[in-house]
Amino acid sequence: MTIIQQPSVLRAYINNHKKDGKTIGFVPTMGALHEGHLSLVSEAKQQSEVTVCSIFVNPTQFNDPGDYEKYPVTLNDDIRVLENAGNNILFLPSASTVYPDGTSSLEHYDIGYLETVLEGQYRPGHFQGVCQVMSRLLGAVNPDLLFMGRKDYQQCMVIKRLIEILEMPTEMIACPTLREQDGLAMSSRNRRFSPDQCQKAATIYQALLKTQSGLKPGNLGNLKKEAATYLKSNGFRVDYFEITSAHDFRIVEEWDGREALVALVAAFLGEVRLIDNMQLND
Ligand code: AMP
Repeated sequence: MTIIQQPSVLRAYINNHKKDGKTIGFVPTMGALHEGHLSLVSEAKQQSEVTVCSIFVNPTQFNDPGDYEKYPVTLNDDIRVLENAGNNILFLPSASTVYPDGTSSLEHYDIGYLETVLEGQYRPGHFQGVCQVMSRLLGAVNPDLLFMGRKDYQQCMVIKRLIEILEMPTEMIACPTLREQDGLAMSSRNRRFSPDQCQKAATIYQALLKTQSGLKPGNLGNLKKEAATYLKSNGFRVDYFEITSAHDFRIVEEWDGREALVALVAAFLGEVRLIDNMQLND
């Protein structure tokens, strides 16, 4: 695996591969890698000829400075697992190469409605930070295919919009969520849980399953309320438990029995904020 820190070096390296007609698959991450990240690398390997994984803990997407400071960093392990996974290039930029002019007056992206609901509403500025870093990473890698996790459902929608705004030819592939045996969605932040909390955390998955099995046409208010109450009674502080259209992300109150729906949840267990989601029907 080739490790590259400078965007200009990466660009030149990738251009050489592109000249040879190779397809480039990109997996951006913030490190502290787990099986979920590696499933994206594996998908990228299957669908492209050169895989690039980036590790960069992006300061501009953390609306909570404490969360940024406590974000786990396990670089040596990450390099080892990426090498074992057969990843080709690891892009490891520093904050000063990603943001050479600092982060105080960065550009704004018009992502509209997506910034006003759920993660956009509860994490002000978060998606601007995601767009700021992704526009720079996409500019450096210029991938044919971009592999993102459906675990960050709203983020996938934001990135699709960003690719349109940037008018890039990149195709985004949304990949399934990998879970622990008890259903807890794998996440770098899970490392911050005590063993007790780790057991409790899977309650989020139970709440999503209950919602899926309780789904019936008509008003969805009680279903959402029951899921939130279930989480609260298990010690969570719930930011939201919502059901939206899987296509346009509109919040759905009355279901016609046909529209594809996804349930999305964000909740704190102790200091750690978890997000998860589940497609509720076909
Ligand atoms: P992160 O390092 O958390 O920014 O995540 C990097 C990429 O991995 C994002 O596209 C995430 O959606 C994806 N990802 C995170 N957790 C999982 C998971 N459990 N299963 C599949 N993909 C994931």
